[in-house]
Amino acid sequence: MTMPDPNPHLVKRLHEFGASIFAEMSALAVRTGSINLGQGFPDTDGPTEVLDAAVEAIRGGKNQYPPGIGIPELRHAVASHQRRFYDLEYDPDTEVLITAGATEAIASSMLSLCEAGDEVVCFEPYYDSYAAAIALAGGRRVTVQLRGPDSRFSPEEFEAALSPHTRLILLNTPHNPTGKVFSREELEFVADLAMRHDLLVVTDEVYEHLIFEGEHIPMATLPGMRDRTVTISSGGKTFSATGWKIGWVCAKPDLTTAVRTSKQFITYVSGGPFQYAIAKGLALGDDYFKRIAAEMRAKSDMLSNGLKEAGFEVWRSMGTYYLTTRIEALGHTDGVDFCWTLPELCGVVAVPSVVFYDDKQAGKSLVRFACCKRDEMLKEACRRLAGGLQA
Ligand code: PMP
Ligand code: GLN
Repeated sequence: MTMPDPNPHLVKRLHEFGASIFAEMSALAVRTGSINLGQGFPDTDGPTEVLDAAVEAIRGGKNQYPPGIGIPELRHAVASHQRRFYDLEYDPDTEVLITAGATEAIASSMLSLCEAGDEVVCFEPYYDSYAAAIALAGGRRVTVQLRGPDSRFSPEEFEAALSPHTRLILLNTPHNPTGKVFSREELEFVADLAMRHDLLVVTDEVYEHLIFEGEHIPMATLPGMRDRTVTISSGGKTFSATGWKIGWVCAKPDLTTAVRTSKQFITYVSGGPFQYAIAKGLALGDDYFKRIAAEMRAKSDMLSNGLKEAGFEVWRSMGTYYLTTRIEALGHTDGVDFCWTLPELCGVVAVPSVVFYDDKQAGKSLVRFACCKRDEMLKEACRRLAGGLQA
């Protein structure tokens, strides 16, 4: 998000939002012919079985509206996935809802669960759609900052962020943009407060299979949390198909029904044939899920080393596509200026992390790089950065 032009037509609650930083930076990459390490999407396709299943579904006439809650094959596959990986039981008919990516699941959750004026607590830096989804619902975001190379938060600050107006906590693990994977202790702390204050927790787990350090712990697995947690994920990252936009929600029946109530009037349904393909993907063997984590780890390490060699300070990333860097050692202090001149300096695009912060000072000199690209692209990007950035 960059600062929007004042637009007399735009409702006030969206005044702070302009074009998404990802769209802007990808357009910059295309315009300048740069290597795009900005927007997080892979530059290779996912597994052949999954691609074939989509083609087969299209050829096989699965091209009309799927059921409002999603096709049974995918709802069953999501429920089986939650059982297989996390020992969580969800009824595929009443506790699983298929959405247009995690983005719609997040927006629908906010629209359905947050009253105008309610406060939503989330960590900052936060994924950009959170701020907009909360604003669409007329809610107010209250952030707790993750600080330093290990992205830690202060328990006191978190507790102080809660008020009688707090309605829910919006949590993302593994976390974009830091790559933090929340530990059991951290999640227990949040869970305990959620129970004591009778809050819902909406969790965004789209990077659940891209972890290099630690383990993914769904909030819903913690004692007492299943029935106050709305778990969101999607197939985009796990199957390298970010353009398909197949996401899902798992939650107890009345929460799922609540989320569906707004979802059904936003898209109603989407991605019919791709739902079949993601169902196929979720049933792939354990080796697939292990392999994608190992491959992403190697990419993350490669990019991290290259960035360090080019003079960046690189923060710890335990998972996801992303690495956070500091640019001061390179003689720069403003991530926005830096990212706009990076294509010219060395033909690489990255994202200024400040867009993920309310505290603009905290994010000012941070820049996010995405590692989900072919090895040769990463190597070339590192070569360009090392050659083009001497302070
Ligand atoms: N949450 C996070 C943390 C993300 O990084 C993204 C981007 N993939 C999304 C949600 C959106 O997911 P989807 O593409 O499935 O809508
Ligand atoms: N999740 C992707 C990222 O953080 C971008 C998705 C989008 O462009 N909305 O880069």
